[in-house]
Amino acid sequence: MRVLITGGAGFIGSNLVHAALADPAIKEVAVIDDLSTGVRGNLDGTDVEFVGGSVLDSQALDAAMAGREAVVHLAALPSVPRSLRDPVASHHANASGTLAVLEAARRHGVGHVVVASSSSVYGMNPALPKEELTWTRPMSPYAASKLAGESYALAYQTAFQLPTLAFRFFNVFGPRQRHDHAYAAVIPRFVHAALRDEPVLLHGDGTQSRDFTYVETVCAVILDAVRRGVHHPHAVNLAFGTRASLLEVLAELEEVLGRPVAREYGPPRPGDVPHSMADNRVLRDLFPDVTPVARRDGLRATVEWMIGRAGLRSDAAT
Ligand code: NAD
Repeated sequence: MRVLITGGAGFIGSNLVHAALADPAIKEVAVIDDLSTGVRGNLDGTDVEFVGGSVLDSQALDAAMAGREAVVHLAALPSVPRSLRDPVASHHANASGTLAVLEAARRHGVGHVVVASSSSVYGMNPALPKEELTWTRPMSPYAASKLAGESYALAYQTAFQLPTLAFRFFNVFGPRQRHDHAYAAVIPRFVHAALRDEPVLLHGDGTQSRDFTYVETVCAVILDAVRRGVHHPHAVNLAFGTRASLLEVLAELEEVLGRPVAREYGPPRPGDVPHSMADNRVLRDLFPDVTPVARRDGLRATVEWMIGRAGLRSDAAT
Protein backbone atom coordinates (compact mmCIF):
# COMPACT_ATOMS: atom_id res chain seq x y z
CA MET A 1 0.00 0.00 0.00
CA ARG A 2 1.03 3.60 -0.56
CA VAL A 3 0.18 5.71 2.47
CA LEU A 4 0.33 9.46 3.19
CA ILE A 5 0.77 10.53 6.80
CA THR A 6 0.00 14.21 7.41
CA GLY A 7 1.83 15.62 10.43
CA GLY A 8 4.30 12.77 10.06
CA ALA A 9 7.18 14.72 11.61
CA GLY A 10 5.28 15.12 14.87
CA PHE A 11 5.14 12.89 17.90
CA ILE A 12 2.46 10.36 16.89
CA GLY A 13 3.17 10.85 13.19
CA SER A 14 6.85 9.98 13.37
CA ASN A 15 6.18 6.92 15.52
CA LEU A 16 3.60 5.89 12.92
CA VAL A 17 6.08 6.42 10.07
CA HIS A 18 8.60 4.12 11.78
CA ALA A 19 5.91 1.49 12.47
CA ALA A 20 4.51 1.73 8.91
CA LEU A 21 7.94 1.27 7.35
CA ALA A 22 8.32 -1.95 9.35
CA ASP A 23 4.92 -3.22 8.15
CA PRO A 24 5.22 -5.60 5.17
CA ALA A 25 1.75 -4.59 3.93
CA ILE A 26 2.88 -0.99 3.40
CA LYS A 27 5.05 -0.35 0.39
CA GLU A 28 5.55 3.41 0.46
CA VAL A 29 5.17 6.10 3.08
CA ALA A 30 4.92 9.82 2.30
CA VAL A 31 4.69 12.67 4.79
CA ILE A 32 3.43 16.23 4.54
CA ASP A 33 4.37 18.45 7.47
CA ASP A 34 4.97 22.19 7.86
CA LEU A 35 7.19 21.60 10.92
CA SER A 36 5.16 24.05 13.00
CA THR A 37 5.36 21.71 16.00
CA GLY A 38 7.07 18.69 14.41
CA VAL A 39 10.78 18.06 13.93
CA ARG A 40 12.38 16.92 10.66
CA GLY A 41 14.96 14.96 12.67
CA ASN A 42 12.17 12.65 13.88
CA LEU A 43 12.31 11.11 10.40
CA ASP A 44 16.10 10.78 10.18
CA GLY A 45 17.15 7.45 8.76
CA THR A 46 13.75 6.72 7.24
CA ASP A 47 12.97 6.22 3.59
CA VAL A 48 9.97 8.54 3.31
CA GLU A 49 9.01 11.01 0.65
CA PHE A 50 8.85 14.26 2.64
CA VAL A 51 6.79 17.22 1.44
CA GLY A 52 7.63 20.25 3.56
CA GLY A 53 4.51 22.40 3.58
CA SER A 54 1.09 22.97 5.04
CA VAL A 55 -2.01 20.93 4.31
CA LEU A 56 -3.56 24.35 3.71
CA ASP A 57 -1.26 24.81 0.71
CA SER A 58 -3.16 23.07 -2.09
CA GLN A 59 -0.09 22.61 -4.31
CA ALA A 60 1.92 20.98 -1.56
CA LEU A 61 -1.05 18.85 -0.56
CA ASP A 62 -1.71 17.73 -4.15
CA ALA A 63 1.94 16.73 -4.53
CA ALA A 64 1.79 14.69 -1.32
CA MET A 65 -1.60 13.10 -2.10
CA ALA A 66 -0.99 11.96 -5.70
CA GLY A 67 -0.96 8.18 -6.05
CA ARG A 68 -1.80 7.34 -2.40
CA GLU A 69 -4.20 4.58 -1.48
CA ALA A 70 -4.75 5.64 2.13
CA VAL A 71 -4.23 8.76 4.24
CA VAL A 72 -3.69 9.08 7.97
CA HIS A 73 -4.41 12.70 8.86
CA LEU A 74 -2.60 13.74 12.03
CA ALA A 75 -1.49 17.28 11.14
CA ALA A 76 -2.85 19.78 13.65
CA LEU A 77 -1.96 22.39 16.22
CA PRO A 78 -2.60 20.02 19.09
CA SER A 79 -2.97 22.08 22.23
CA VAL A 80 -5.77 23.51 24.36
CA PRO A 81 -3.75 26.42 25.82
CA ARG A 82 -2.42 27.33 22.39
CA SER A 83 -5.96 27.48 21.02
CA LEU A 84 -6.99 29.80 23.85
CA ARG A 85 -4.25 32.19 22.79
CA ASP A 86 -4.93 31.96 19.07
CA PRO A 87 -8.29 30.32 18.26
CA VAL A 88 -8.21 31.27 14.60
CA ALA A 89 -4.84 29.56 13.98
CA SER A 90 -6.19 26.39 15.61
CA HIS A 91 -9.30 26.53 13.46
CA HIS A 92 -7.30 26.97 10.26
CA ALA A 93 -4.87 24.14 10.97
CA ASN A 94 -7.34 21.70 12.53
CA ALA A 95 -10.77 22.27 10.99
CA SER A 96 -9.94 23.83 7.60
CA GLY A 97 -6.86 21.58 7.39
CA THR A 98 -8.99 18.45 7.80
CA LEU A 99 -11.46 19.65 5.18
CA ALA A 100 -8.59 20.34 2.79
CA VAL A 101 -7.19 16.82 3.30
CA LEU A 102 -10.59 15.20 2.74
CA GLU A 103 -11.17 17.25 -0.40
CA ALA A 104 -7.74 16.36 -1.77
CA ALA A 105 -8.33 12.68 -0.96
CA ARG A 106 -11.63 12.83 -2.84
CA ARG A 107 -10.05 14.56 -5.84
CA HIS A 108 -7.23 12.02 -5.99
CA GLY A 109 -9.49 8.98 -5.58
CA VAL A 110 -7.83 7.89 -2.32
CA GLY A 111 -9.66 4.86 -0.93
CA HIS A 112 -9.49 5.40 2.83
CA VAL A 113 -8.87 8.30 5.23
CA VAL A 114 -8.16 8.00 8.95
CA VAL A 115 -8.57 11.27 10.88
CA ALA A 116 -7.27 12.12 14.37
CA SER A 117 -9.85 13.69 16.62
CA SER A 118 -9.60 14.14 20.36
CA SER A 119 -11.29 13.18 23.63
CA SER A 120 -11.46 16.92 24.33
CA VAL A 121 -14.64 17.02 22.20
CA TYR A 122 -16.53 15.54 25.20
CA GLY A 123 -15.60 18.66 27.18
CA MET A 124 -18.35 19.49 29.67
CA ASN A 125 -19.98 16.06 29.43
CA PRO A 126 -19.15 14.62 32.88
CA ALA A 127 -20.07 10.98 32.08
CA LEU A 128 -17.38 8.37 32.73
CA PRO A 129 -16.47 6.40 30.75
CA LYS A 130 -17.00 8.52 27.64
CA GLU A 131 -19.26 6.73 25.15
CA GLU A 132 -18.97 7.88 21.57
CA LEU A 133 -22.69 8.47 21.08
CA THR A 134 -23.19 10.63 24.18
CA TRP A 135 -23.22 14.40 23.81
CA THR A 136 -20.16 16.48 23.04
CA ARG A 137 -19.60 20.01 24.38
CA PRO A 138 -16.16 21.46 23.58
CA MET A 139 -14.65 23.73 26.24
CA SER A 140 -11.87 25.20 24.10
CA PRO A 141 -11.33 26.34 20.51
CA TYR A 142 -9.00 23.33 20.12
CA ALA A 143 -11.80 20.91 21.03
CA ALA A 144 -14.26 22.74 18.77
CA SER A 145 -11.82 22.53 15.87
CA LYS A 146 -11.32 18.78 16.40
CA LEU A 147 -15.08 18.22 16.54
CA ALA A 148 -15.42 20.13 13.27
CA GLY A 149 -12.68 17.99 11.72
CA GLU A 150 -14.23 14.68 12.73
CA SER A 151 -17.65 15.91 11.58
CA TYR A 152 -16.25 16.63 8.14
CA ALA A 153 -14.69 13.17 8.03
CA LEU A 154 -18.01 11.53 8.88
CA ALA A 155 -19.95 13.75 6.47
CA TYR A 156 -17.67 12.68 3.62
CA GLN A 157 -18.86 9.09 4.10
CA THR A 158 -22.43 9.95 3.20
CA ALA A 159 -21.86 12.97 0.96
CA PHE A 160 -19.11 11.43 -1.18
CA GLN A 161 -18.94 7.71 -0.21
CA LEU A 162 -15.37 8.21 1.03
CA PRO A 163 -14.56 5.52 3.63
CA THR A 164 -13.30 7.38 6.70
CA LEU A 165 -12.48 6.57 10.30
CA ALA A 166 -12.34 9.32 12.92
CA PHE A 167 -10.43 8.30 16.04
CA ARG A 168 -10.77 10.22 19.29
CA PHE A 169 -7.31 9.95 20.82
CA PHE A 170 -7.11 10.40 24.56
CA ASN A 171 -3.72 11.10 26.23
CA VAL A 172 -1.05 9.53 24.08
CA PHE A 173 2.52 9.37 25.40
CA GLY A 174 5.85 7.88 24.45
CA PRO A 175 9.17 8.49 22.67
CA ARG A 176 9.54 11.62 20.49
CA GLN A 177 6.91 13.54 22.45
CA ARG A 178 8.22 17.02 23.15
CA HIS A 179 8.80 18.28 26.66
CA ASP A 180 10.38 21.53 25.58
CA HIS A 181 7.61 23.88 24.54
CA ALA A 182 5.04 25.91 26.41
CA TYR A 183 2.23 23.51 25.51
CA ALA A 184 4.00 20.23 26.26
CA ALA A 185 1.93 17.28 27.51
CA VAL A 186 2.16 16.06 31.07
CA ILE A 187 4.15 12.80 30.81
CA PRO A 188 7.13 14.18 28.83
CA ARG A 189 7.24 17.17 31.20
CA PHE A 190 7.22 14.87 34.22
CA VAL A 191 9.86 12.52 32.82
CA HIS A 192 12.16 15.31 31.73
CA ALA A 193 11.95 17.18 35.05
CA ALA A 194 12.41 13.98 37.06
CA LEU A 195 15.50 12.97 35.07
CA ARG A 196 17.01 16.38 35.79
CA ASP A 197 16.17 16.11 39.49
CA GLU A 198 13.85 19.09 39.17
CA PRO A 199 10.36 19.22 40.74
CA VAL A 200 7.48 18.34 38.41
CA LEU A 201 4.79 21.01 38.05
CA LEU A 202 1.20 19.93 38.70
CA HIS A 203 -1.62 22.22 37.55
CA GLY A 204 -4.17 21.73 40.34
CA ASP A 205 -3.92 19.06 43.01
CA GLY A 206 -2.90 16.16 40.76
CA THR A 207 -6.12 14.21 41.24
CA GLN A 208 -7.26 15.02 37.71
CA SER A 209 -7.22 11.83 35.66
CA ARG A 210 -6.64 10.85 32.07
CA ASP A 211 -6.82 7.71 29.94
CA PHE A 212 -3.15 7.34 28.97
CA THR A 213 -2.28 5.27 25.89
CA TYR A 214 1.26 4.36 24.85
CA VAL A 215 2.04 5.59 21.34
CA GLU A 216 3.01 2.12 20.07
CA THR A 217 -0.53 0.95 20.84
CA VAL A 218 -2.03 3.90 18.98
CA CYS A 219 0.17 3.13 15.95
CA ALA A 220 -0.81 -0.56 16.04
CA VAL A 221 -4.50 0.36 15.93
CA ILE A 222 -4.03 2.89 13.12
CA LEU A 223 -2.01 0.46 11.00
CA ASP A 224 -4.58 -2.28 11.51
CA ALA A 225 -7.24 0.21 10.35
CA VAL A 226 -5.19 1.14 7.28
CA ARG A 227 -4.42 -2.47 6.30
CA ARG A 228 -8.06 -3.55 6.55
CA GLY A 229 -9.61 -0.24 5.37
CA VAL A 230 -11.69 -0.02 8.55
CA HIS A 231 -14.34 2.72 8.44
CA HIS A 232 -17.12 3.50 10.86
CA PRO A 233 -20.24 5.71 10.83
CA HIS A 234 -19.36 7.50 14.06
CA ALA A 235 -16.15 8.58 15.78
CA VAL A 236 -14.30 5.84 17.70
CA ASN A 237 -12.46 6.31 21.01
CA LEU A 238 -8.82 5.22 20.74
CA ALA A 239 -7.95 4.40 24.35
CA PHE A 240 -8.36 1.30 26.45
CA GLY A 241 -10.14 2.59 29.54
CA THR A 242 -7.05 2.57 31.75
CA ARG A 243 -7.52 5.83 33.61
CA ALA A 244 -4.94 7.15 36.08
CA SER A 245 -4.61 10.37 38.06
CA LEU A 246 -1.48 12.45 37.61
CA LEU A 247 -0.48 11.45 41.15
CA GLU A 248 -0.76 7.76 40.17
CA VAL A 249 1.37 8.35 37.08
CA LEU A 250 3.97 10.06 39.26
CA ALA A 251 3.98 7.09 41.63
CA GLU A 252 4.60 4.75 38.66
CA LEU A 253 7.36 7.03 37.42
CA GLU A 254 8.97 6.88 40.86
CA GLU A 255 8.87 3.06 40.67
CA VAL A 256 10.46 3.09 37.20
CA LEU A 257 13.16 5.51 38.38
CA GLY A 258 13.59 3.84 41.76
CA ARG A 259 13.56 7.16 43.63
CA PRO A 260 11.12 9.88 44.72
CA VAL A 261 10.18 12.76 42.42
CA ALA A 262 9.65 16.25 43.93
CA ARG A 263 6.44 18.14 43.08
CA GLU A 264 5.34 21.76 42.78
CA TYR A 265 1.68 22.80 42.63
CA GLY A 266 0.34 25.59 40.38
CA PRO A 267 -3.17 26.83 39.51
CA PRO A 268 -5.43 24.63 37.33
CA ARG A 269 -5.34 25.44 33.61
CA PRO A 270 -8.45 26.97 32.00
CA GLY A 271 -10.17 24.66 29.50
CA ASP A 272 -8.75 21.47 31.06
CA VAL A 273 -11.32 18.77 31.88
CA PRO A 274 -11.08 17.20 35.38
CA HIS A 275 -11.43 13.53 34.37
CA SER A 276 -11.35 11.51 31.21
CA MET A 277 -11.72 7.83 30.42
CA ALA A 278 -12.75 6.07 27.22
CA ASP A 279 -15.48 3.53 26.77
CA ASN A 280 -13.51 1.16 24.55
CA ARG A 281 -16.16 -1.35 23.45
CA VAL A 282 -16.32 -0.10 19.86
CA LEU A 283 -12.53 -0.02 19.62
CA ARG A 284 -12.18 -3.59 20.90
CA ASP A 285 -14.92 -4.80 18.52
CA LEU A 286 -13.24 -3.18 15.53
CA PHE A 287 -9.65 -4.11 16.52
CA PRO A 288 -9.82 -7.36 18.48
CA ASP A 289 -6.21 -8.25 17.67
CA VAL A 290 -4.57 -5.19 19.24
CA THR A 291 -3.33 -5.65 22.81
CA PRO A 292 -2.38 -2.39 24.54
CA VAL A 293 1.10 -1.92 25.98
CA ALA A 294 0.88 -1.56 29.78
CA ARG A 295 1.27 2.04 30.98
CA ARG A 296 4.24 1.19 33.21
CA ASP A 297 6.08 -0.48 30.29
CA GLY A 298 5.33 2.56 28.15
CA LEU A 299 6.65 4.86 30.88
CA ARG A 300 9.84 2.81 31.14
CA ALA A 301 10.37 3.00 27.36
CA THR A 302 9.73 6.76 27.45
CA VAL A 303 12.28 7.23 30.24
CA GLU A 304 14.83 5.14 28.33
CA TRP A 305 14.25 7.13 25.15
CA MET A 306 14.65 10.45 26.96
CA ILE A 307 17.85 9.28 28.61
CA GLY A 308 19.26 8.20 25.24
CA ARG A 309 18.18 11.32 23.44
CA ALA A 310 19.02 14.04 25.89
CA GLY A 311 22.02 12.46 27.53
CA LEU A 312 20.25 12.73 30.85
CA ARG A 313 21.27 10.72 33.90
CA SER A 314 22.02 7.22 32.63
CA ASP A 315 21.70 5.88 36.18
CA ALA A 316 18.18 7.21 36.44
CA ALA A 317 16.15 4.24 35.18
CA THR A 318 16.18 0.98 37.07
P1 NAD B 1 2.44 16.99 17.15
O1 NAD B 1 2.37 18.47 17.34
O2 NAD B 1 3.66 16.30 17.59
O3 NAD B 1 2.15 16.63 15.64
C1 NAD B 1 1.38 17.42 14.77
C2 NAD B 1 2.18 17.56 13.49
O4 NAD B 1 1.38 18.29 12.55
C3 NAD B 1 3.49 18.34 13.67
O5 NAD B 1 4.54 17.63 13.06
C4 NAD B 1 3.21 19.66 12.98
O6 NAD B 1 4.39 20.27 12.48
C5 NAD B 1 2.22 19.25 11.91
N1 NAD B 1 1.37 20.32 11.43
C6 NAD B 1 0.68 21.24 12.17
N2 NAD B 1 -0.04 22.03 11.35
C7 NAD B 1 0.20 21.60 10.08
C8 NAD B 1 -0.24 22.01 8.81
N3 NAD B 1 -1.10 23.05 8.67
N4 NAD B 1 0.20 21.34 7.73
C9 NAD B 1 1.05 20.29 7.85
N5 NAD B 1 1.52 19.87 9.03
C10 NAD B 1 1.09 20.52 10.13
O7 NAD B 1 1.14 16.39 17.87
P2 NAD B 1 0.71 14.88 18.14
O8 NAD B 1 0.59 14.75 19.60
O9 NAD B 1 1.57 13.94 17.38
O10 NAD B 1 -0.77 14.89 17.56
C11 NAD B 1 -1.12 14.25 16.33
C12 NAD B 1 -2.63 14.33 16.17
O11 NAD B 1 -3.27 13.65 17.24
C13 NAD B 1 -3.19 15.74 16.16
O12 NAD B 1 -4.24 15.80 15.22
C14 NAD B 1 -3.76 15.92 17.55
O13 NAD B 1 -4.81 16.87 17.59
C15 NAD B 1 -4.24 14.50 17.84
N6 NAD B 1 -4.31 14.20 19.27
C16 NAD B 1 -3.18 13.98 19.98
C17 NAD B 1 -3.28 13.64 21.32
C18 NAD B 1 -2.05 13.35 22.16
O14 NAD B 1 -2.22 12.93 23.31
N7 NAD B 1 -0.83 13.51 21.65
C19 NAD B 1 -4.53 13.58 21.93
C20 NAD B 1 -5.66 13.86 21.17
C21 NAD B 1 -5.55 14.12 19.83
